Amino acid sequence: MEKMRSYFRQSFARQFILLVASFFIIFVVGATALSMYQATLVTSFEKKKNQIEMKMKYAQEIEQAFNQAFSDARGYLAFNRKEFKLSIFREQENAQTGLDALELAATTKDDKQFILKARQFASYYFGDLVPEAIEAFESGNIQKVLSLSENGGTASIEQFQFQMKTYKQSLNDQLDGAFRQLSKEQQIAQTAFIVFVFLMLFLLAAIARIMTKKIGAPLRALAHMAEKIANDEQVHNNDVIHTAREDEIGKLAQAFRKMLMSIQEKEESLMAHNEELLAQQDELEVQQAELEQALEAMQARERELERYNDFIQGLSNSLDRQEVLHSIVFNMARVMEADRGMIVLMNEQKTYAAFGLSPYGVEQFLTYVYNGLHQRLFEQKKPFVLKREVAASEKGYHEETMFVHDVFLPVLSNESKVQAILVFSRFGGPFSDEEVHEYVGLTKQISISLQKMELYEQTEQARETVQHILNTVQEGIHFVDRDGNSVIVNKQMADLLQKETIAELGGASYEQWARGLIEQSDAGKTLCDYLRAIIFNGDEEREPFVYHLPQKRKVIQVYAKPLYRNGERQGTVFVHRDITKEFEVDQMKSEFVSTVSHELRTPLSSVLGFTELMLTKELKPERQKKYLTTIYQEAKRLTALINDFLDVQRMESGKQTYDKKYEDLVSIIENVIETQKVNTTIHQFRLQKETDKTTVLGDRDKLAQVFTNLISNAIKYSPDGGNITVRIYERGNRLCVDVQDEGLGIPEEALPHLFTKFYRVDNSDRRRIGGTGLGLAIVKEIVKAHEGEVAVTSELKKGSTFTISFPLVVMARSREDERDIDDKQAHAHVIIVEDDENLAALLEAELKDSGFRVKLVKEGKEAIELIQKEKPDAVVLDIMLEEHDVSGWDVLKELKQNEELAHIPIIISSALEEREKGMALGANSYLVKPYQPSQLSKTILQMLLNKERQGEIFVPLNEEAN
Ligand code: ADP
Repeated sequence: MEKMRSYFRQSFARQFILLVASFFIIFVVGATALSMYQATLVTSFEKKKNQIEMKMKYAQEIEQAFNQAFSDARGYLAFNRKEFKLSIFREQENAQTGLDALELAATTKDDKQFILKARQFASYYFGDLVPEAIEAFESGNIQKVLSLSENGGTASIEQFQFQMKTYKQSLNDQLDGAFRQLSKEQQIAQTAFIVFVFLMLFLLAAIARIMTKKIGAPLRALAHMAEKIANDEQVHNNDVIHTAREDEIGKLAQAFRKMLMSIQEKEESLMAHNEELLAQQDELEVQQAELEQALEAMQARERELERYNDFIQGLSNSLDRQEVLHSIVFNMARVMEADRGMIVLMNEQKTYAAFGLSPYGVEQFLTYVYNGLHQRLFEQKKPFVLKREVAASEKGYHEETMFVHDVFLPVLSNESKVQAILVFSRFGGPFSDEEVHEYVGLTKQISISLQKMELYEQTEQARETVQHILNTVQEGIHFVDRDGNSVIVNKQMADLLQKETIAELGGASYEQWARGLIEQSDAGKTLCDYLRAIIFNGDEEREPFVYHLPQKRKVIQVYAKPLYRNGERQGTVFVHRDITKEFEVDQMKSEFVSTVSHELRTPLSSVLGFTELMLTKELKPERQKKYLTTIYQEAKRLTALINDFLDVQRMESGKQTYDKKYEDLVSIIENVIETQKVNTTIHQFRLQKETDKTTVLGDRDKLAQVFTNLISNAIKYSPDGGNITVRIYERGNRLCVDVQDEGLGIPEEALPHLFTKFYRVDNSDRRRIGGTGLGLAIVKEIVKAHEGEVAVTSELKKGSTFTISFPLVVMARSREDERDIDDKQAHAHVIIVEDDENLAALLEAELKDSGFRVKLVKEGKEAIELIQKEKPDAVVLDIMLEEHDVSGWDVLKELKQNEELAHIPIIISSALEEREKGMALGANSYLVKPYQPSQLSKTILQMLLNKERQGEIFVPLNEEAN
């Protein structure tokens, strides 16, 4: 029992279930009892009702049977019909059956009395009255019948009918009584039900009260406490409900208390934590402030960088100086929000660009670039800012005092030199230190830009120099990249490729550049294959290729060299060499061989033939003389031929020496004509002299050779004879000589080659005419050595004219000049520095002969002293002097360094072949020993004359020959 109680005490839910369960049990039991009672009531009423209704039915049947019998009897008696009589008796039976049934159902005293009376009446009626009547009737005793009826028959029937009625009434009353009882009892049952319901409600209320009491109060206490906690009121341990209860509430209270404790504990730790957090927050706030500062600085830096970037973006990428400067000024002004500004490069031209400035302002600035204000920039190399009042011209319509801020910035090069200066003005406000600092950063960028530009200009210059160098090279040079595109080309190459300018070839593809060359070459396809094989197949080992340009009469040899950079092939360099000369030389060699063999053999065969004749045969003296004359002439011809060869050889190697003097051309030509006349009878010679200035400075023999060659050709190549005219005339400052004939003439295509060695015009008319092709080549060489020129005009079958021109020697002809020369010679003082006694004596004799005053000196030192003292008109200086520490070079240097002596002409006379060095050191002429002493006199004289006349130093004509 005790266990059971504790079982319920531990759980509030169990207690609740127990109470609710008890309530249900009571409710079910009560309700069942009530409804059963109700049912019993109804059942007993139904039973009673059935009984009464049964009795009523039987009573009805009995009444009916009697009433039928009464009517049947009357019917029989009235109508004498048998069936009525039979029916009477049938009804008797029915009445009897009804009575029996009623007797069985009878319950009350009334029923039994009625049954008794009915039975008595039945026995009277059917046993007595009816038979008597029927008998009477059948016997016709109607009186009796009547009497019977009157004597009581009718009365008893009526009495019975009354009894019957009364009984039926009592039955109805019984039924009513049963109803009434039933409703009474039902009323009682309803009342009982209502009472039961109230009872139940009361019970429920009691349970609810218990529950509220058991849960509500402690819950309210808890809620109150929780509210207190929620409102942050202090709750003490004591305030917490202490209950011994073991159920859920008890446990809840317990848990609540624990919770409270733990909350309080936690709160304390939270408070501590909170304090810590507050401290941390303070720290964070400090940090945040720092970060904000840093952010601000960063944003400022970012803006600065943006402007910087803007500036750099804005800078022109062009390499054009003016464009770059302009973009610098424009962008700087934009970044600075300046209203005007200017940049000036510190180069010689003071290149500048300005923004918002008038040309006058710019000019003024440029004029005073180096004034005190800007000087500061050059000295300190630091920017500075000025604030000044706005000048009236700048003010516009403003009247009040206004200020403008100028910033001066130097642009420093890598070597910290002021490369350029920048000046900007701002009306809007002052320049802060930060801004100026920022601009200094920008000037670095400007410096880079300027350097880039300079670098570009230098590269461009270098490129141009390279191009110039390339252009000076005689060969056509062409660098082609691996895809065959033209990269570098020189002028000569452009000519070969038939382009007007080098620029046309810039980046030209193989097809573009090669076409011109291939079209004009005689080896189009093979040349094309050659170039392609090298460019596209890298076939670099190919031998040089030779092609002809028929139109240009050129022979070109091309070779290719691959160009590598870091081991990788960059392309190919083609060198097109003009080998026309070599080619012609080769050709000439073969021509030479054939000519020589022919030209030598002819005289040799006559020499051999005639000597053989003379040796083998006895000849008459006249014959012998004739033969010997022929032999002599042929031998002379051979000698002349060989001399021609040697002359050409000498002239070409520069070894031919000329003994130049002032000579009269007319006499030379007259002599030549005289000797040439002998060889012909069919030509007429005419000499036309149209000028008096016929003197030339030249070698008589060589000049004679020139005219001999020309006149002999005129004879040779006019086989039908005709006039041969030699005309001497002046043209400009030149003396010209025409040698004209009326012979074969020269085909036009031969004219350019006429003066090359061994060249002979090859056609049938002149094959018979012998020759070596050297005559005109010799003419050209000699004329060249006399600073002359030779030209030819010709018409086929009409004749040719060869024209030679020499520099006009004016003074040599006039009396005045001749006197002048004598004067010079008479007064001119020459010092000879020569250690070889014999040579010195020879030179002295020659110069004295020519009328100079001469002094000899052997040593260098001595020479300098003497020259200083005497200031001669000319010095003849040997280089290798006895005294070794002072050589001729030293003397020369010393003299040229001395202002007083530097003008004295110096003729070096040396065995050393160091002409270049001598001329470079300032010598006026260089004679290589051995030379003819007369040459020295002539040189000195010429030099003095020239110096006098033109105030210039004279370089003698024969210089090259030495
Ligand atoms: P060569 O007379 O020995 O053949 P040159 O050098 O004197 O050699 O002449 C070269 C060529 O020029 C000659 O072969 C000749 O065909 C031509 N020639 C020179 N002078 C004349 C001339 N006066 N008239 C026609 N042809 C000339």
